[in-house]
Amino acid sequence: MSKLKTLKDCLIEELKDLYSAEKQLVKALPKMEKKASNENLKKAFKMHLEETKKQVDRLDEISSILEKKLTGKTCKAMKGLVEEASEILEEESENEALIDIQLVGAAQRVEHYEISAYGTTIALAEELEMKKIVKLLTQTLKEEGNADEKLTSLTQKELFKEAKMNEESDEEADEPRRKSKGRDAVHAALVGAMVFAGSTLSNYGEVKAEHTPEHAKARSSMKAETDNTAVNKIDRMNNGITAEDQNNDSGNIQVLANIRKAITEDDSLSVNAHNVKVIVDNGKVYLKGPVDSRAEKDAIRSIANSQAPNFEVFDSITVEK
Ligand code: FE
Ligand code: FE
Ligand code: FE
Ligand code: ZN
Repeated sequence: MSKLKTLKDCLIEELKDLYSAEKQLVKALPKMEKKASNENLKKAFKMHLEETKKQVDRLDEISSILEKKLTGKTCKAMKGLVEEASEILEEESENEALIDIQLVGAAQRVEHYEISAYGTTIALAEELEMKKIVKLLTQTLKEEGNADEKLTSLTQKELFKEAKMNEESDEEADEPRRKSKGRDAVHAALVGAMVFAGSTLSNYGEVKAEHTPEHAKARSSMKAETDNTAVNKIDRMNNGITAEDQNNDSGNIQVLANIRKAITEDDSLSVNAHNVKVIVDNGKVYLKGPVDSRAEKDAIRSIANSQAPNFEVFDSITVEK
């Protein structure tokens, strides 16, 4: 005999599934945070962990409104998504941004699953005119959408660039004469990555069902993100690379010399820190290599910021120890 008889039973089943999903994430997110290298990605995971705990609290509140327990069910889909994410936790790469990009991929799969599950659940609660519950669930849905968007922009603003920078400096180290050829390959790979990003990082915009007005609103704000993804960003990157190839002027060299000098003259820094790799290119400063502590990483970044105030600084320095 099925225990499902009413729409309300259906709502409770959805809520139980979400409860299990959120609980699993409270356990998984700290591991993803720990694995991430990019500081802003770490922060994003940490912030979403705090949000996720609040989302569990909201479900507890809903549980008491309905006087129904939400425990005892396992969301198998989330279990699978968390399993996939844990494969990335095992992976290693010298180009850490590549791991970060995969972590984002795993996290966005999770967010998209949650977005769809909350959409369905909100639609049920609306149909049942459970206003308070709709309100609580909608708050969560917004957080999921924001988390997803934030990951998209972080990937496009930082992770792809870090990944590319690390590829380039490996090329230089291995075979300096092939640099320009290597760059073409990187360029092609990058364009491929961007197209990939356009389809996965924003496919939330393509979701068909509109469960609630809020859901629709969240969608249209993400639609805007969709519209300026792949193509525009590829153009921007292409321009960047073209300009970069022409740009080898003394300004860059001077800025590089200033940063190097300030790092070398700082006696509080370790040998590792003194040897950090600095690349200045087309308005951007890239920092790379191992240092001994968090404090050194911060110190070098702030040297770069103060020596090159008008440059964008990309810090992929790693802390070894
Ligand atoms: Fe959540
Ligand atoms: Fe589920
Ligand atoms: Fe899969
Ligand atoms: Zn989430």
